[in-house]
Amino acid sequence: MLERLGERVWAIPGGVNGGVIRGESGKVILIDPGLNETSGKKAIKAAAEVGAVSTILTTHGHADHFGANAEVVKRTGAEVWAPAIDEAVLRYPILQPAMLYGGADPIDTMRGSFMLADASPVDHVFAPGDRLSIDGVDIEVVDLSGHSPGQTGLLVDGVFFSADVTLPESVLEKYRIPYLYGVTAHLAALDRAREIACERVVPGHGPLLESIGPAVDANRALLDRVLEQTVELATQPATADAILTGLLRHFGSPAADAPGYYLLQPTGFAFLAHLHRLGVVSHVVENGQSLWTVV
Ligand SMILES: [Zn+2]
Repeated sequence: MLERLGERVWAIPGGVNGGVIRGESGKVILIDPGLNETSGKKAIKAAAEVGAVSTILTTHGHADHFGANAEVVKRTGAEVWAPAIDEAVLRYPILQPAMLYGGADPIDTMRGSFMLADASPVDHVFAPGDRLSIDGVDIEVVDLSGHSPGQTGLLVDGVFFSADVTLPESVLEKYRIPYLYGVTAHLAALDRAREIACERVVPGHGPLLESIGPAVDANRALLDRVLEQTVELATQPATADAILTGLLRHFGSPAADAPGYYLLQPTGFAFLAHLHRLGVVSHVVENGQSLWTVV
C-alpha cells in the first residue's frame, strides 16, 4: 500500500494520494488522509507499516483531502496542521458547499460527503513560505493558492506533494473544466510548481510523477482554451450564468445536477475576474442584470 520515495518519505497511492513521513521519534506525519471514515482507517493501516500517526498535514480545505481527518484524530489523537484560510473550512466544513452555492445555505443535494466533510480540529496553522519543523523533519510550504484560497504544496527531502495544482488527464477528461477559486493565483502557482527542484512529485490525484512539467503544460493549455472561450462568449454583453452555460456546452461538461453545476459556478466567476483584472472584459449592472463584455 505504501510506495517508498525516500529514506523517510512514502506515498499512499489512491483516489486521493496521501503521504507518510517518518519523524525522528519513529512516529508518522500523515499528509491528506482522504475523503471519509473508510479512507481514514485505510491511511492509518498503511501508515502502520512505518509507525503510529502523530500528525496530519492538510494541503487544502477540500473534502476529498481532509474528510478523513476526523476519523484519524479520533483513533490516534493526531495533531492537525492546515494552511491559513483553508483551515476555516476544516473547522466549519459547511463553508465548502456554501462557497460554491453563492455563499448561501446550500440545497440539500450539495451535502453529500464529497461536498460536506466531517469537521476536523486544527491545532496549527501554516502559511506559504513557512518552513515547518515537525518531529525533527524540515518541511517547506509552497504557495499553490488558486485551486483553493490557501492551497499549499509540501516539499520534504526532494519529494514534492503538489496537491491539486495540476490534475491528471483522467480527471481533466472527466470534468472537462476543472474547479478553480482564482485564475490569477492559479496561473502563478503553475509557474511556481514548475520551478520546484525535486526528484519525485506526488500530485493529489493520479499517477506519481518524475517531473511536474508535462502536467503543468496540459493544465495550462486547458486553462488557456477556457480563457479564450470565455472571451468569445462575452463578445456581446452576457450574464455570468449565460457564459457558464456556454462554457459547459462548448467543453461537453457532464454537469447534470446541483453539485456538478455549482462546482463550476465560482470557476466561471474566477475566469471573469481574471479577464477583468487584465482589462479584457468590463462589468456593468444594467436593468437588474450583471453583464460582462469584451472591451
Ligand atoms: Zn482540491
